Amino acid sequence: MDLDLTGRHALVCGASQGIGRACAVELANLGANVTALARREDMLQRLVAELPRVHPAQTHAFIVADSGDTDGLRVAVDRLAATRPVHILVNNSGGPPPGPVHGAEVAAFLDAYRKHLIANHVRAEIVIPGMQAAGYGRIVNIISTSVKEPIAGLGVSNTTRWAVASWAKTLATELAPFGITVNNVLPGSTKTPRIEHLVQVNAQKSGTSVEAAQQAMEGDIPMRRFADPSEIAAAVAFLASPAAGYISGINLPVDGGRTRSL
Ligand code: NAD
Repeated sequence: MDLDLTGRHALVCGASQGIGRACAVELANLGANVTALARREDMLQRLVAELPRVHPAQTHAFIVADSGDTDGLRVAVDRLAATRPVHILVNNSGGPPPGPVHGAEVAAFLDAYRKHLIANHVRAEIVIPGMQAAGYGRIVNIISTSVKEPIAGLGVSNTTRWAVASWAKTLATELAPFGITVNNVLPGSTKTPRIEHLVQVNAQKSGTSVEAAQQAMEGDIPMRRFADPSEIAAAVAFLASPAAGYISGINLPVDGGRTRSL
């Protein structure tokens, strides 16, 4: 099985922590040159210094950009793609704040759409010509299992994830003739700062301890544990590899068996 990404350039978004960071590490482990995108320069600097280098020519970099600032994002990614074509794009950003959909503010939808759907689209539009020229392209979007089963208490998030999944499926069909694949990885509950926050919210809502809230959440998962970010990254890295060249337009749950639908 060919998992070698030597000579490939991966742009990994939301890479300063959590799932995005784990994806950057895993892609570097397979030989890719990684550019990490996020807002916090100090964390990106540390990440780039720590990323694996498995061959001498491998180089990593970062760009500071805010997925919620569409114009600034476009300028930053344009500049990157002009100097170094991107072969692998991992679209990822912080999840929208929790809360029911009833009563959600219009501004919350607009903010989530801008940081996810619009940011993914802007980045993809910039890097696709380089993928076409290289004859190699992989777009992997980190979404959520809520694409298959909406999650209670994540109203704006559920809605935004569906929009991203529909965008990705449409794009997958359009780009298939060029050998560019577009796939979605759907993490279940994963040990990152995002899930720590959601556990605290659940604890407050139910008036229990953080430990009890976490146990209740883990109890809903057939594997009875949260994922390690590296387990999500492994699926992303496979989909980014030559071995996954005939897989496109899928939603891949990596969730310890939690999603009950087929
Ligand atoms: P996280 O909050 O730990 O990390 C998010 C990353 O995105 C960070 O690097 C952060 O700096 C970056 N980011 C946030 N806002 C940004 C912005 N405006 N511009 C640029 N970068 C920005 O989240 P995570 O747990 O790693 O999750 C990643 C994605 O997967 C999120 O969309 C999340 O909702 C989704 N997800 C997570 C879980 C989970 O259990 N952790 C489960 C399902 C889905």
